[in-house]
Order: sequence, then structure tokens, then C-alpha cells
Amino acid sequence: MDDSLPQVRLYNSLTRRTEPLQPLQPGRVSVYTCGSTVYNYAHIGNLRTYLFGDLLHRTLEYTGYEVRYVKNITDVGHMRGDDHDSLEGDDRIQLAAETEGKTPSQIADFYTDAWLEDEALLNILPADVMPKATDHIPEMIALTEQLIGNGLAYDVDGTIYFDVSSFPSYGQLSGQKVDEMRAGHRVEVESDKRDPADFALWKRAREHRLMKWPSPWGDGFPGWHIECSAMSIKHLGERFDIHTGGIDLKFPHHEDEIAQSEASWAIRSSASGCTANSSPWPTPRWPRARATSSELASCPPRVTSRSPSATSR
Ligand SMILES: [Zn+2]
Repeated sequence: MDDSLPQVRLYNSLTRRTEPLQPLQPGRVSVYTCGSTVYNYAHIGNLRTYLFGDLLHRTLEYTGYEVRYVKNITDVGHMRGDDHDSLEGDDRIQLAAETEGKTPSQIADFYTDAWLEDEALLNILPADVMPKATDHIPEMIALTEQLIGNGLAYDVDGTIYFDVSSFPSYGQLSGQKVDEMRAGHRVEVESDKRDPADFALWKRAREHRLMKWPSPWGDGFPGWHIECSAMSIKHLGERFDIHTGGIDLKFPHHEDEIAQSEASWAIRSSASGCTANSSPWPTPRWPRARATSSELASCPPRVTSRSPSATSR
């Protein structure tokens, strides 16, 4: 920790405590915010989330930290309602394209511009990187392949599900027990899963679908959650300091992001002897932090229940 900087304390929604910020690299803080799904204008609740991110960004810089801030653009894979894993569900971008008589990319470009105009009106500082989900399909496929290869995910007729039973701390962020999640699921739309609590990493594309990409499992498209894991790993590295987003994303989006990212980090760190230097991902602008000796001592064999450094809401 850089003792020359004032201490910053943040509420960590994972531990449900206010904790001192201890960046992985002294003096530098890496932040990821789940950005807009660009199928419509941002509403005041969305903008409240981005104002929080901006307040955090400005506060950290004001107190002397160097901040690398990533805020993504979701332009595929976010389904309407709570039907995140339904193969028949409606992708918000595609629905808007059909309604407005435009292509999905025209919809995404138009509402991205509108969102950024609104942010500028609110004097929100631009993020260092605003990655688009559709620009990161190869990374999402690679991450999914890695999880399959290590027995954490499985293929059902071209749709890939994360096996929640392989991640013991699943439910920790939202405070839910897996058994209770199972009881709450609608069986009829998820009958091809091994377990109703499992969630989709990659989905098979049906015929009418406009946005689809070739993959080792056939034409398909990414699940919403894997998008943010792939983009955060690419632009901030395997480990970063703070993840923010709307409170409504706590479950399932952030719970699932944690499971995917933590599981893949555990795989890579285990394979490399916990030195975190065997990542298949491009090196981010900042060099990745090396694991400390205490972390090396507790190197997980494959899957860890280790908590992220900090989480905010
Ligand atoms: Zn996200």
C-alpha cells in the first residue's frame, strides 16, 4: 500500500462491510463498470449508476491515485425480462432493430451516441476504455473453451452452461443459496440444463437470429454475463480492484461474472503455480500484479472461493 496517499474506504457489497481500499498495485486503481445495453435511451436509474462510477473515478484521482477505468457497451446477448437463459427469448438489441426497421448495429450505434451525449451533459468523465461486446467475441469463446476444458461448463446441443456446482461460493454476493435458486426457476424454459441453477455462457442461435457468430459449438452468441468477464480480463487483467454496476445487476449478472472470472483465474493461476503469468489474454496496458507470497501459499487447486479485492454497488 502507498502510505503517501490518503486512505479510501469503500462499501464492499461482497463482504457487506466498509473496508479500506488496498489496490493490487500501489497508487493505481483499476475499475470496471457494467455499462448500458444500447437498445434504448438510458433512463435516470442507469445514469445514476454511471454518476456513481464517475464520483468514484473523480474521488480516487483527487486523492492521488492513478485510475484505469473501463465501462463496457453491451450490444448483444442481454435478453428481455428475466429470461436470461431462454433460447427462445428476445435479445433487446434485435427486438429494437425489428421494431425500428434498422439493423442491430444501427440500433447499437444510435443509442451508444445518445448515452454518451447524456453522460457528457452530466459532466461524467469519459472512461479510459469503452469496449463493445461484439468486438470481443473471440475472447468470450476462448474463455468458454477454457471453462469447458477444465470441467466447469458443458455443452448441450450447441449451448454451453456453467456448472454452478463446480463453484462452491456461488451465491455469496447475492446471499442466495443454490437450493433456493433451483426452487425458484421455471423448469419448462431450462429443461436442457443439468441443474436449473446453471447459466448459459454461449447460446445456440436459432434461424431467425440476426446476431450470431461461428464457434466450436456451431453458430451462436454470447451469454450476457460472459461478456463482462471477457472484457474486464482483457482490459484490466485477470485481477482488478473494483467492480461497480447497478444494484439490479447483483443477481444474476454479477454473481455469474464472479463465478466465471474467479474460476478461470483459479485455473490459470493453478496451471502457472499461482504466478499469474500464463494467461492466454493479451497483456493489458498496466502490467499484471504478481501474486503475493501469502496468496501463493493459499494457491487454489482449481476453483477458489477467494473474494475479489473490492466490490461496490
Ligand atoms: Zn456487466
